[in-house]
Amino acid sequence: MVNEKMRGLGACRSVIRELFEYGKKRKAEIGAENVFDFSIGNPSVPSPAIVNDTLTKLIAERDAVSLHGYTSAQGDAGVRGAIADYINTTHGAKADPNLIYLTVGAAASLTISLTALTEARDEVILLAPFFPEYRVFVERNGAVAVPVLCNTKTFQPDLEAIKAAITPRTRAIIVNSPNNPTGAVMTKESIEGLAQLLREASQKNGNPIYLIADEPYRELVYGDVEVPYLPHYYANTLICYSFSKSLSLPGERIGYILVNPDATDAIAVYQAVCGAGRALGFVCAPALFQYMIPEVIGKTADISVYDTNRTLLSEALTSYGYEVVKPDGAFYLFVKALEENATAFCERAKEYELLLVASDSFGCPGYVRISYCVTTEQIQKSLPAFKALAQSYLTEK
Ligand code: PLP
Repeated sequence: MVNEKMRGLGACRSVIRELFEYGKKRKAEIGAENVFDFSIGNPSVPSPAIVNDTLTKLIAERDAVSLHGYTSAQGDAGVRGAIADYINTTHGAKADPNLIYLTVGAAASLTISLTALTEARDEVILLAPFFPEYRVFVERNGAVAVPVLCNTKTFQPDLEAIKAAITPRTRAIIVNSPNNPTGAVMTKESIEGLAQLLREASQKNGNPIYLIADEPYRELVYGDVEVPYLPHYYANTLICYSFSKSLSLPGERIGYILVNPDATDAIAVYQAVCGAGRALGFVCAPALFQYMIPEVIGKTADISVYDTNRTLLSEALTSYGYEVVKPDGAFYLFVKALEENATAFCERAKEYELLLVASDSFGCPGYVRISYCVTTEQIQKSLPAFKALAQSYLTEK
């Protein structure tokens, strides 16, 4: 006998992982250069040199036993202090090292935070389109995911729809800006409106509704776009941060949770975070990568490649007749499928060796996600295939 819910999750991969595996098989059959794999958000630019320099220095200079030993369950105190200092200097905030918890990336940050905040049957609002794993993280301990579609013209939160979805059981809302899969960045106006709405609803419910800010793409923005610091707008905020994307380190698994000191019952929330980390076995994030953080925090990989890809792909696809959501951040392009059924569209795209993710599991049917964190050469080589795919629909009309 096994836990059937878990068996189900293990037996059937996410659409993204399924396509990624298909891509590996297809590349072995016809050569990697002939497959245009836009399936997964694996950064394609190397980490900045300071990452390896710092790791090498730590290994050369630090006592090996302590370097590789356990840290405190919530993370090394000095490292938490460095993270708080950085946030306070950068955002004029008052982050507290005693309210920071080091994790193995944003996925763990989210699972821990949701476990800390919810009981069975509590509700968590997800702004669609959303990262499909949110549903898995929310439902893990019996809480209920409540998808609320964003305004599909702007991909900003639809405040009226959120208001209508809030019930006395609403415990949290997850926001993800810059967004996977749309690349949209929440505007200051959207944040102010959402914060006001959540304050009013919390008061009505007699319990705080927490804002969980999933921020693995915080630094990945283009032009003069800014990502506002959410605790300045809404006190009951937890930030789930990850170094996976900004530093091109997704395989190393390092990130953190920050509980805003101004949150109602901040200490109790942090204790629940520590308890959830303990219950889930997410204690003492990888020590070597913790010790790297003070040296590298705030640095990014060279994201100019993503910017080049973004412009190239959006302009070309628009010129072929695709409807493209203008991305301000992250490294995804959200494109309207050329037929109603996005899965059928993705199957046809495969005939052109284009691997695109159908948007159904993002809670917003009818679109595809293109991860443009690939080489610019791959984008250039794929353009004739995108053009031919569009033409195959035109000739049908
Ligand atoms: N949240 C979003 C929106 C993501 O896109 C991802 C990964 O792609 C994650 C969380 C998980 O990030 P991590 O690799 O840090 O666990």
